[in-house]
Amino acid sequence: MHRIIDMKLNRPYILYIFICLWLLFLPSCTNHLWGKDFVVVIDAGHGGHDPGAIGKISKEKNINLNVALKVGNLIKRNCDDVKVIYTRSKDVFIPLDRRAEIANNAKADLFISIHTNALANNRTAKGASTWTLGLAKSDANLEVAKRENSVILYESDYKTRYAGFNPNSAESYIIFEFMQDKYMEQSVHLASLMQKQFRQTCRRADRGVHQAGFLVLKASAMPSILIELGFISTPEEERYLNSEEGAGTMAKGIYRAFLNYKREHELRLTGVSRTIVPTEQEEDNAPAIAQKDTESVNTAPQQEKLLAEAKTKPAATAKTAPKRPIVVESATNDSEITFKIQILTSSKPLAKNDKRLKGLKEVDYYKEGGIYKYTYGASADYNKVLRTKRTITAQFKDAFIIAFRNGEKMNVNEAIAEFKKRRNK
Ligand SMILES: [Zn+2]
Repeated sequence: MHRIIDMKLNRPYILYIFICLWLLFLPSCTNHLWGKDFVVVIDAGHGGHDPGAIGKISKEKNINLNVALKVGNLIKRNCDDVKVIYTRSKDVFIPLDRRAEIANNAKADLFISIHTNALANNRTAKGASTWTLGLAKSDANLEVAKRENSVILYESDYKTRYAGFNPNSAESYIIFEFMQDKYMEQSVHLASLMQKQFRQTCRRADRGVHQAGFLVLKASAMPSILIELGFISTPEEERYLNSEEGAGTMAKGIYRAFLNYKREHELRLTGVSRTIVPTEQEEDNAPAIAQKDTESVNTAPQQEKLLAEAKTKPAATAKTAPKRPIVVESATNDSEITFKIQILTSSKPLAKNDKRLKGLKEVDYYKEGGIYKYTYGASADYNKVLRTKRTITAQFKDAFIIAFRNGEKMNVNEAIAEFKKRRNK
């Protein structure tokens, strides 16, 4: 008897289960139908009763939020396959571990934390830097992590929440020494893409990619970076970051680096990518993309048009002879050559305390053909770099000088010739 009833009920029952399952998986299905398969978490540092660093005319929390929202808007307008999640979209306090939790819960592909640097005692410095998780290789780097981590002191239960971590004690940072970070390579790569844009798009002084023990990065389980946009303690930079132009340009730089990363990520995973990184000229020629607010539907054909245009235009001539002369001016007059000393290469990123670096601090690197090429020193003055090179010849006898124009490696002889020509003007 029992069995007969079961048999009778069987079919509608199965249907019912199917409907339940379908409803259960609907959110992720539709997500994929809509193509929202890349999730980026944008974290505006500080907020609420935590102002972050304080400048003469502004607070760090507001600069961070303004730039974060601008980055998010650019992504939302132009990438209909990306889901943007903010850890905060207004002036509220969010505990540090909650920020990472938001990213982890969303199974984010990227975590981008936006901050503004500061120096105490009227010291001034300029430029943007990008940080990944690791052991600080200098006291100055440790200071940055200490300052950013000390926000946990605003949380009453920080001692239990962060397992006794004291943000102001150097000893607490030992935990970062033996930490394995499986996202390190991707994080460092994203960081270097950021710095490239800060140089090229934002024309900011390049303070390089660094590592330090940031709690917010430690807790996030995906490639993660922390950006220091500039120095709020340097009046000129504070004014710039508080201007519409400054905040907008920094956001554009971050957005472009994000596009570059996403494109490479997709190519690596699937061999195809519909992510397009417009060139500076294309962006200037296509204000419609930047101004459009909600109609993300229309931006994909727009981007396809840009891609088609880019394809018909040889890349080399696009740089030297674009259609609009006004763009040529801004593209070439500001082009800056930076000389650096290449000290060694490695197939993997090196830890800051790697023996091969021989204790040299403030080293930087660039990636070429999948190889990490480590450099030391950076200046537009060739003679200065030559002098710096002499100071390290004993340790790095094979070191040689290389040159970059707007962050792109260039022929060093041409660079020297141009340097001499400029100096003799
Ligand atoms: Zn901060």
